[in-house]
Amino acid sequence: MTNRIVNESLLRRAADASIDFLQKMDDRHVGARATRDELLRALDVPLSQDGEDASRVLDALVAVGERGTIGSTGPRYFGFVIGGSLPVSVAADWLTTAWDQNSGIYAVSPVAAVVEEIAQRWLLELLQLPKQASVGFVTGCQMANFTCLAAARHAVLRNAGWNVEELGLIGAPPVNLIISAEAHVTIHTAMRMLGFGTKRLRTVATDGQGRMKADDFERAVAGVEGPTIVCAQAGNVNTGAVDPLRRIATAAHARNAWLHVDSAFGLWAAASDTRREVVDGIDLADSWASDGHKWLNVPYDSGFAIVRDSAAHRASMTVTASYLEQTSGIERDNFDWAPEFSRRARGIPTYAALRALGRRGVADLVDRLCARARQFADILRREPRVVVLNDVVLNQVLVRFGDSDDLTNDVVAGVQREGTCWLGGTTWQGKRAMRISVSNWATSEEDVKRSADAILRVFRESAVTSPR
Ligand SMILES: *Cc1c(COP(=O)(O)O)cnc(C)c1O
Repeated sequence: MTNRIVNESLLRRAADASIDFLQKMDDRHVGARATRDELLRALDVPLSQDGEDASRVLDALVAVGERGTIGSTGPRYFGFVIGGSLPVSVAADWLTTAWDQNSGIYAVSPVAAVVEEIAQRWLLELLQLPKQASVGFVTGCQMANFTCLAAARHAVLRNAGWNVEELGLIGAPPVNLIISAEAHVTIHTAMRMLGFGTKRLRTVATDGQGRMKADDFERAVAGVEGPTIVCAQAGNVNTGAVDPLRRIATAAHARNAWLHVDSAFGLWAAASDTRREVVDGIDLADSWASDGHKWLNVPYDSGFAIVRDSAAHRASMTVTASYLEQTSGIERDNFDWAPEFSRRARGIPTYAALRALGRRGVADLVDRLCARARQFADILRREPRVVVLNDVVLNQVLVRFGDSDDLTNDVVAGVQREGTCWLGGTTWQGKRAMRISVSNWATSEEDVKRSADAILRVFRESAVTSPR
């Protein structure tokens, strides 16, 4: 039976092409193969008057698009902090697309609302965060930082007798904003979007690992008066280091400040009995921004804005309009918790991942990636003239070759060309370094060994051609 809505052969073709793409992941060059020119030559056809057959459009994408992809969903991609996708989360994401639910309010998708209600509870349980906290399902940690800081802005100004949603910031009591010198750039963007401005940010110095210096923080916060928001970090993008959260929380709360923690990937340490001590005190914060598409390995895009004071969270995000058929309060309207209106049902892949993994599965995922990062560090630092610059506390490893910026850059570029694995470079405290992030659920000990061997091979060749 054919049906107007479904083009079965097209969808099966897409599924086959997707499965084929994933099947080749283990053997492919991890980097992209096509240049911009090649992609433009193949894809930049004149937009036709009458359109094209759907299967031809799909075939064109499959034929060349794949060469323009990065193998970041495979087990030997270690660039930035980029997770892969658990099979169950890919499958649930396909279903989410086919269901095509507008997930803003309960009235337009009961299942999207209920799944996010359950996923919220599971996340709080798993990460050992306060039960009364609320979770907004957003596109990533950028929007999670924005959402949490909007709730913070609401609460600290409410406490000063100012309704920022109604009155805005013009004429508002000034808000003290204290962040780490190592705060992620998305904290700055969030502050900009919230009308605070980056020049208003007071930064606290960090140590050799990128952690806020607790003494400096205590001095900074002791001197403030009035509404105050503090941003700490769990999981530095370079080193994986975590701020001294217990001391920061104690000092911040002594001044009635709101403590936000950017914990895009670091928050997941709380799900593991063996790693939880790394984020000691994280549960004392007032809000937490985290990602699903990093450590949890759900597909893009997925982030979590978690706020202890759910009334502040809702007040900063909710909207009303006569036509909306909002609920009486028992059912969840997702747009109360996120800065989006119409959006995909992105809680579904998270629900599927958490349910399939269970508590032990998530803890094991956390422990495994930490162990693989340590394995990387152990293999690489055995080689003379290779130095691991950071304490490997989570999934991040920073490596420097021959104590030389040029040689380190050469090794990074050489590894990217060689294709066994992919990783990037960074500048850490004035020195160039290779940055390894183990974020993929599928990365095995063998993958790490193969990748470390490739890195050392490139290092030895580079050291010969550019002896320094
Ligand atoms: C990745 C990251 C972000 C940004 O997250 P997106 O999901 O890319 O928006 C923010 N903070 C930290 C510490 C990160 O690692």
